[in-house]
Amino acid sequence: MSESDISPLGRGGFHCSLCDVRLPNSPTLNDHIKGKKHQKLLSVRRTRKLQQERSVFVSGFQKGMSNLEITDYFQKFGTVANVIMDKDKVDEQLKKLLELFEFTDSERMLRKLIVSLIQEVFSEFFPSCKVLLFGSSVNAFDIHGCDMDLFLDLENTTTYQANASATAETEGVKDAHFESQSEDSILSDIDLKISTAAEILEVVATVLQKCVPGVHKVQAVTTARLPVVKFIHKESGLQGDISINNRLAVRNTTFLQLCASLDPRVRPLVYTIRHWAKQKHLAGNPFGGGSLMNNYAVTLLVVFFLQNRTTPILPTVNDLKEHAGEEDQCIIDGWDCTFPRNGSKIEATTNTEGLCELLAEFYKFYAAFDYAGTVISLRDGKAHLVTDFIGPDSDKQFRFGPINIQDPFELSHNVSGNINERTAQRFKRQLDEACKYCRSLQYQRKSTKKKAWGIVRLLQPLSSTDCSPAPSPSLDHSPGKEMSHGENMLSIPFKLLCLSEQTKKRLHGSQDFREVWFDKVCHAVLYVMESILKCSCSYTEENNTQINNAEINSLDEAKNKEVKISSGLKRPNPEEEIAETSSNKRSRTEAPLYQGEVTWQCAVWNRIWIGRRKIRRQLRYRTNESDSDNCGIISSLETEAKITEAILQQEENSDKSSPLVTFRLSAFLVGGNEDTRTMIRVTPIQDSTLFVEFFHFLESFIPKMIEKCIEKSD
Ligand code: ATP
Ligand code: MG
Repeated sequence: MSESDISPLGRGGFHCSLCDVRLPNSPTLNDHIKGKKHQKLLSVRRTRKLQQERSVFVSGFQKGMSNLEITDYFQKFGTVANVIMDKDKVDEQLKKLLELFEFTDSERMLRKLIVSLIQEVFSEFFPSCKVLLFGSSVNAFDIHGCDMDLFLDLENTTTYQANASATAETEGVKDAHFESQSEDSILSDIDLKISTAAEILEVVATVLQKCVPGVHKVQAVTTARLPVVKFIHKESGLQGDISINNRLAVRNTTFLQLCASLDPRVRPLVYTIRHWAKQKHLAGNPFGGGSLMNNYAVTLLVVFFLQNRTTPILPTVNDLKEHAGEEDQCIIDGWDCTFPRNGSKIEATTNTEGLCELLAEFYKFYAAFDYAGTVISLRDGKAHLVTDFIGPDSDKQFRFGPINIQDPFELSHNVSGNINERTAQRFKRQLDEACKYCRSLQYQRKSTKKKAWGIVRLLQPLSSTDCSPAPSPSLDHSPGKEMSHGENMLSIPFKLLCLSEQTKKRLHGSQDFREVWFDKVCHAVLYVMESILKCSCSYTEENNTQINNAEINSLDEAKNKEVKISSGLKRPNPEEEIAETSSNKRSRTEAPLYQGEVTWQCAVWNRIWIGRRKIRRQLRYRTNESDSDNCGIISSLETEAKITEAILQQEENSDKSSPLVTFRLSAFLVGGNEDTRTMIRVTPIQDSTLFVEFFHFLESFIPKMIEKCIEKSD
């Protein structure tokens, strides 16, 4: 006992500071000192003191350094009894998640066995064929029970069949070997060289169904973008897909394997982010198609992020190519898929960021990303402006969408081309939330009070109410429509396909394509409102932050054509040559007129939104106009103008002196570089139930009409 632990109190009492107890007199003090509690605390204190004297606190060594390396180093100064690592706790959670999800050895083995069984049977029917696993079963991002993606490579079989039949023809006799093989192989029933994928897959389905044991629910799905034969392995319940034209997918699977092998942080990060995306209903279309991201796209986002750290963790595809040898050269369908078969020649990164930090940075990186305006390229690890993609190679059309991820090999393919505006907005909202959470103390378990912390909270599933669209005015929904705080919004995303080759060329490499788009949308809005819907529109100074001086004269000219709302909006003159309004003429030739926020006051004089479908049908019947476009919702600009004319004529009291609905239309761009959309706010000037009906009509009519209008005038 240390005497300093006991201090006398008044009236003969004592206080033990080690155990923090009061003792009334000497006998109780003696009992306490001999007692269990006091003795135990004394012993703990002694041990700690010894540890303290013989311990060294070390910090600042590289992440990933092992216990053994540290022991080795300090052995020089004395015996090292123990190394205690105070590891980053969130890092441990990420690693744990990986351990929980990845295959066991027996799962991996089972898949191999199923493949070799299928290979054995198929070789009988398709001589020299190869059955290869690709996708998550082998790309290093396997998850218990994930589907089995199989590629049936019939290249050698096709050559074999062609050679055999050529020999038979020239020699006039049947090659005995070929005959015997082909009878077994059913190759006599189908010519692989000229058959369609659907025809071949029907045969594959028959073989699978009839001859491969343990397989059931075989179904050829030949109408999908990538035709496949689906099946289920009875014993394990595993679902499989067999495809035949998918060599690129086999190659990109090898690429992902390589990325995973280059740095130990890749796998835990990808698993965590894939799982986050699944929990938040952003990724994982249950039946392949759909508007969510697929796991391949999510993985590419992680790889791109790791290419973009200040000290990159992963090399770009172009860098990898430089390390490829002769034997690694690979061209598939004309695309360069060259990269080294393993990472042995690639220098390890000097980046030492931990998983916890990287995950938080991932969300930060993508929360501030300009999705619609750029294309993510893993080839050079850069986000390119969409306008850079407009080049002489326009035959290889890239399908632009709200998120653009270029496949690292099939460069004309947007891996996230299936994603709609709604999913993209939910994705951004979830990124914002994750980003905010990662800044909290709870993320790093600094203050938890038994609450879920670290990635546990991040990975909590979305409740069904969270799946609803975002309330923010700038972040939402399906193309065209947006509602917030009682405002009615239409959104017009940048659409390259509407633009002429000339404009595309002009925009090539340009930074201000958003402004060009905005200007075009403004002209188109005015044209659609005035010339097609016969509304009156008056440009208002309020909010308008136009214009360069050179344009003022032409704007005045445009304004003079319009009628001020203050004097009562005048009905448009039907005799006017609509196609030649000044605003429309300008849009074809001149520099941007509209900038900033542009507002018009508008009036509708007739119920031009009622009965359009019926008149459209009648007009189509008369003119034989094709219905394939827009499924009867909207036809050409001319037809739509005629439809409005017809409605005006039908309305008996077309001499109304006051409009049915008056409203304000304001067009503006969202955000700085994060968004390419032009937004149109529609606000009623007088509350009226008709406005709600009218806006409902505008939601579906305006975005499509604007596209058509730009397409035509550009
Ligand atoms: P999981 O099956 O666990 O969802 P996965 O990586 O196997 O993950 P699948 O959707 O089954 O994903 O796709 C299988 C493989 O097909 C991918 O690994 C990739 O090689 C290829 N692939 C899938 N989607 C695309 C795409 N949009 N563009 C290019 N290749 C794709
Ligand atoms: Mg898969």
